[in-house]
Amino acid sequence: MEKYDVIIIGSGAGGGTLAYILAETGKKILIVERGDYLPREKENWEPHSVFIEGRYNPNEEWLDKDGKPFTPGTHYYVGGNTKFYGAALLRLRKEDFEEMQHFDGVSPAWPLKYEDFQPYYLKAEELYSVHGQRGEDPTEPPEQSPYFHPPLSHEPRIQEIFDQIKASGHKPFPLPVGIRLNEENREKSECVRCDTCDGFPCLVDAKADAHTTCIRKALKHDNVTLMTGVKINRLLTSGKRVTTVEGEKEGKPLSFEGGLVVLSCGAINSSAILLKSQIANSSGLVGRHYMCHNNSAIVAISTKKNPTHFQKTLAVNDYYFGADDSEFPLGHIQLLGKVKQEMLEADAPALTPGIALREMADHAIGWWITSEDLPVPENRVEVTPEGQIVLNYTPNNLEAHERLLKKLKEMLKSCGSHLHLFPSKVYLSKKIPLAAVAHQVGTCRFGTDPKTSVLDIHCKAHDLENLYVVDGSFFPSISGVNPGLTIIANALRIGDHLKSEVLR
Ligand SMILES: Cc1cc2nc3c(=O)[nH]c(=O)nc-3n(C[C@H](O)[C@H](O)[C@H](O)COP(=O)(O)OP(=O)(O)OC[C@H]3O[C@@H](n4cnc5c(N)ncnc54)[C@H](O)[C@@H]3O)c2cc1C
Repeated sequence: MEKYDVIIIGSGAGGGTLAYILAETGKKILIVERGDYLPREKENWEPHSVFIEGRYNPNEEWLDKDGKPFTPGTHYYVGGNTKFYGAALLRLRKEDFEEMQHFDGVSPAWPLKYEDFQPYYLKAEELYSVHGQRGEDPTEPPEQSPYFHPPLSHEPRIQEIFDQIKASGHKPFPLPVGIRLNEENREKSECVRCDTCDGFPCLVDAKADAHTTCIRKALKHDNVTLMTGVKINRLLTSGKRVTTVEGEKEGKPLSFEGGLVVLSCGAINSSAILLKSQIANSSGLVGRHYMCHNNSAIVAISTKKNPTHFQKTLAVNDYYFGADDSEFPLGHIQLLGKVKQEMLEADAPALTPGIALREMADHAIGWWITSEDLPVPENRVEVTPEGQIVLNYTPNNLEAHERLLKKLKEMLKSCGSHLHLFPSKVYLSKKIPLAAVAHQVGTCRFGTDPKTSVLDIHCKAHDLENLYVVDGSFFPSISGVNPGLTIIANALRIGDHLKSEVLR
């Protein structure tokens, strides 16, 4: 059996970033990824292939709480879900690290505070080429240093909307986005400002995903190996140590031995592996407190044409902590990527003519609104005796989301142009809300008490000496913003800890 100093299982936001930071230690590192490299092909940018045919979705079924199968809206490739993400990379607010009252209950405090994450957020923004502007978002947490890249410019129609929203008394701000775009010198720009970024893989490798940003750089080190197409099923232990990582490639069993073992398979798959292995669960909390946000993708059709290409440049946080008529937090509003005819087709009645859909798409602007769902133990990942994943989830705190939607409608109405709003199921991921697992977090919460948390503050399993979980699993609460930057910043934090305290 091959032996490594560190085995990282999963190459997405958490695992990919950790591999990058540990590569320079010279330790023998194995990255095991169940997917392959995502093929670069013209279908990368074809809405029909991506959204309707689900070309890049897994050939896998999970079960809902009633035992009904569904295909999860997740992706298994080198780089994980970041290959498809919209790269909206926001920090949690300072207040998100504290206990906060919501309509349906309390969002718990984190065991660490914003100040503990702040230096890693800054590094994460640098590493993932985040473009933004400090001082514009009314809820942003404290930071002395400016962004490393200027905010993305709004195209004319979005600038118009930005100005109208501002004139209506709101404080819209440039959405922080991680792409390798140089607007001052387009000759030197990797990004071409296309209209197929959010939800699509980047055909020109200009989106700052974990593959192009981290894995590629990690693999320049001779001490780092990546094995693709290897699905890990189980971890075996002896005493307080994981001794063996067991998996399969094309149906053939494989196993590895690692000094340190890091699970980074995403919150659902990491907890499923722990449950199958029956380890790290003295608290009984592995798989519990699953969260995924209350999200809505909303299409606004206005009388005015929208010729924008790269649309994801604007956000609004005026209702993040509440509103004049809402005592409790409502959430975050941002623009979606460009709405395409094919996306509308998926939601429209069967006989809607193509020309009508094209006309609608030409006038459409997509919005993405996110409200916090609260961590409850009943919302959980389980596995059947055969090893199939069961996602037992009932949404909560919906009042906040409904109120946020109302606020979006009022805000857009005040923008002047005639608007018609309707929800887009296709972006939200495939017909049923449960399959929308893009923002999955919380299944192995971190904390100081082994009775009420699975991981310690360094994301090491309380129960084991050499097992870490470095993906979205550690979140004690989800906040109202996208989780990616916090997963990346946490991986950098854990990387620093491992380098200075564990791998010396
Ligand atoms: C369409 C879409 C848009 C999004 N937009 C945004 C956005 O704009 N901003 C933002 O912050 N977030 C966004 N997200 C969410 C973001 O991508 C995730 O939060 C982030 O990628 C999660 O990181 P992770 O490390 O937890 O897991 P992932 O990035 O999912 O990585 C997990 C990796 O583990 C691998 N794996 C799983 N099981 C196994 C196994 N058994 N053996 C070996 N390998 C395994 C997977 O193949 C994958 O590569 C979006 C997600 C999607 C799908």
